[in-house]
Order: sequence, then structure tokens, then C-alpha cells
Amino acid sequence: APIIQIDHLSKRYAGGTTALDDVSLSIEAGEILALLGPNGAGKTTLISIICGLVTPTQGTVRVGGHDIATDWRAARRMIGLVPQEIALEPFETVANSVRFTRGLYGAPPDEPHIEQVLRSLALWDKRDAPTKTLSGGMKRRVLIAKALSHKPQVLFLDEPTAGVDVQLRREMWQVVRELRASGVTIILTTHYLEEAEEMADRIGVIDRGKLLLVRPKDQLMGEFGRKQ
Ligand code: ADP
Ligand code: ADP
Repeated sequence: APIIQIDHLSKRYAGGTTALDDVSLSIEAGEILALLGPNGAGKTTLISIICGLVTPTQGTVRVGGHDIATDWRAARRMIGLVPQEIALEPFETVANSVRFTRGLYGAPPDEPHIEQVLRSLALWDKRDAPTKTLSGGMKRRVLIAKALSHKPQVLFLDEPTAGVDVQLRREMWQVVRELRASGVTIILTTHYLEEAEEMADRIGVIDRGKLLLVRPKDQLMGEFGRKQ
């Protein structure tokens, strides 16, 4: 069974914008899926619904078989979200910031896991540093560490490299590749075709609220090639 099953999902915001229009999608455990589309396509709305931050107008989402509308607590325990905006408490230490997020998910303390997450993101040496002293790349890795704090099976990254320079973009690509080895399912949004190509196994193209197609990366490149 897919780890995420989305059926006929639509979202119409108050004000009238149709941000999602009848989107259906299955996501398999262990894959990296990129949602590729221009600004305003509906990417953030889609992951915000799956993560329980936005209520859909129509349709259903199941995470690990749990319907988010009726069984939200069970679904949410399986999910970690790396938001687009860097929002860290500036005077909090790196380790405490990660512990705090784990607590928000209702997970009991697990120092070995906190250590493992910080080491895997090359943050262990910075564990006692206030987050405000970190570089931009380290802050992004702290956001990922927070999202992994409760051992989610699925990790969402919303525009993980928006507004970052080329070097940091490559660093983020490397981090995502390493995460895959840990078995976590990854869904990321991007408006860069190159980024989707670099990171994903499958690419879903989304535009004006519609999921136009979902293809294995190599196949998508082939189709684009033929059209040109
Ligand atoms: P993307 O992440 O692909 O840039 P979004 O999901 O953020 O797209 O936005 C999709 C559409 O929904 C856009 O037209 C956007 O302006 C609109 N939208 C997003 N959030 C809201 C909101 N809270 N209220 C009203 N309209 C919104
Ligand atoms: P800088 O020295 O880089 O200006 P700041 O202390 O302004 O550092 O902020 C460090 C990081 O913490 C920034 O990414 C900022 O977005 C975030 N931040 C600043 N103030 C707050 C706050 N009150 N709550 C949450 N995050 C904050």
C-alpha cells in the first residue's frame, strides 16, 4: 500500500482562489517525489493539507492508512515538515530546539535519537550554540533536524532551496540524498526543474491547481525532450 494516498483533493480559499483542483496521487514508501511548478501553482497548499495545516474543500488524504480528517493524531506522528521560512528561536540552543519540537509531537525524550539526528546533519558540534549564531545553511539543517526529531516516516520539504546561493543549494541536495539512505519518504516542492532532476525519483508537475502528470524522473526528461 502507498504511504500517502490522495484522492480528488480540491482547495478553494475564502476569496475564491482555486488552489487545488481534483488532485489524486499515490506516494510509495521510500521514494523521493518532487512537486514541480511555478509560484502560485498550489504546491504549498498541497503539502499544507497533507500536514494538517490547511483544511481541504473536497477529497481525502491517507497517511499510512490513517485518514487525516478522522485520524489526524496518528497521521501527524508519521509526518515531519521543513517549512519554507526559517523560524528559529534565536537564543535557543540547537539541541534544545530539536528537543522542543520532539515534545510538540508528544514524543518522550530520546537523547540517543537527538544525537543521531544532529550527527547525521553535521550539527553535533553546534548542539550548544544558540541558533542565531549559525550560518544560513546550518539554520536550514536545524529545521530538518527538528522535522526529524520524532522519527517521522515521511518528510516534507517546502522549497528547501528558495532564496539560497548555488553552494548552499548543492549542500541541501546532498543532505536530501543522505536522508534517503535512512529510508524516510521525502516529498519536496520546487520551481527549479534542475532541482527536481537532481533530487527526485519521481516528478509531479503542478500548475494552476492541477496535477498535470507524475512520472519517473527519466521518463519525464524524455517527454520534455520529444516536445522540444
Ligand atoms: P505555490 O506553493 O505553488 O506557490 P500556493 O499553494 O502557495 O502555491 O498558492 C496557490 C494559490 O492559492 C495562489 O493563487 C495563492 O495566491 C493562493 N493562496 C495561497 N494561500 C492562500 C490563502 N491563505 N488565502 C487565499 N489564497 C491563498
Ligand atoms: P541575526 O543576527 O542573523 O539577525 P536574529 O537574532 O535576528 O539573527 O535571528 C536569527 C534567526 O532567528 C533568524 O532566522 C530569524 O528569522 C529567527 N528569529 C528571530 N527572531 C525570532 C523570534 N522572535 N521567533 C522566532 N524566530 C526568530
